[in-house]
Amino acid sequence: MIKHSVHQVKGMCSSRFWGVLGFTAIILLASPTARGETQHQIDSILVGMYHSLGIECSYKHAGALSWPLAAYENAHPNEYFPLLQYVLLLEEEMGKYSPSFLQKIGLKKIIVVKNLSYDGQLRAALPDYYQEILCLDFVRGEHSPAYQRHVIHHELFHMIEEAIHGDAYFTDLNWMSINKPGFVYGKGGVSVQDDPRQFAFIHPARGFINLYSISGQIEDRAEIFAALLMKKERKKVKRWMLFDRVLCRKVKYLRRFAQPLGLKL
Ligand SMILES: [Zn+2]
Repeated sequence: MIKHSVHQVKGMCSSRFWGVLGFTAIILLASPTARGETQHQIDSILVGMYHSLGIECSYKHAGALSWPLAAYENAHPNEYFPLLQYVLLLEEEMGKYSPSFLQKIGLKKIIVVKNLSYDGQLRAALPDYYQEILCLDFVRGEHSPAYQRHVIHHELFHMIEEAIHGDAYFTDLNWMSINKPGFVYGKGGVSVQDDPRQFAFIHPARGFINLYSISGQIEDRAEIFAALLMKKERKKVKRWMLFDRVLCRKVKYLRRFAQPLGLKL
C-alpha cells in the first residue's frame, strides 16, 4: 500500500536540520570505511533480529517475488545510512511480536528494498503470501518514521489474515456487521492509495479511524490493528472509543482475534 502521511507536515520545521544531517551523512558515507561500518551495523541488527525472532531479514535479495507485476531494487551502498535508520525502526517494531507469534503466522522472511512497485505503482510494502515474505521499502515514506512504522504492522496484518483464513482478501461478514446497517465499503485500498488525505487519523465517521479504512473491510481491520500497536495512534483510538461504540466493538473484535495468537492489543 502507498501512504503519504500527514505526519510530514509535522516534520517540515526541522527540514533544514535534517537537510544538513542528510548532507553530512552523504559526505560521511562517501568514504568506503564509513560505508563499511554502517553496513556492519545493519548486518549486526539483522542478525540480532534473526536470533531473537527467528525471521531472516535481508536487504540483499536476489530472488523474484511471487507477483509477476512486482518489482524492487536493492539498496545502493551510498544509501546505507538511511537504510540503517530504517532497520533500527524495523527492529523496534518487529520486537512487538514474539517468535512464536511469527511462527504461527508463517512469516519466513523480511526484505528491505527500494523502488518497490506493483504494476508500476510505487508501494511502501508488499506481502508475498506464497513465499511468506514481507517486502518493505525503506525509502518510501522516509519523511515520516511514524508512517513507516505503521505500514509494517498494517502489512503484517494482511499476512496474519492470510495465515488464519487462508486468504488475505477474506470477506469477514461478522466484521462488516459491526458497521451501521446499510453501510457499504469503497472499492478497496488500491483505488485510493494515491490520495494522502486518506491516511490522516481524523475519525471521519463512526467506527472508522481514517478515510482509508472506509475503502475496504480488510483495510479497515489492518488500519485499526496497526494503530493499536503504535503508542500515539492507540491513544487516539482509545479516546474515540469513549464515545464511538462501533469503533469500540471493532477493537474488541480484533483483540479477540489476536488473543489466541498470543498477541495482546
Ligand atoms: Zn492494506
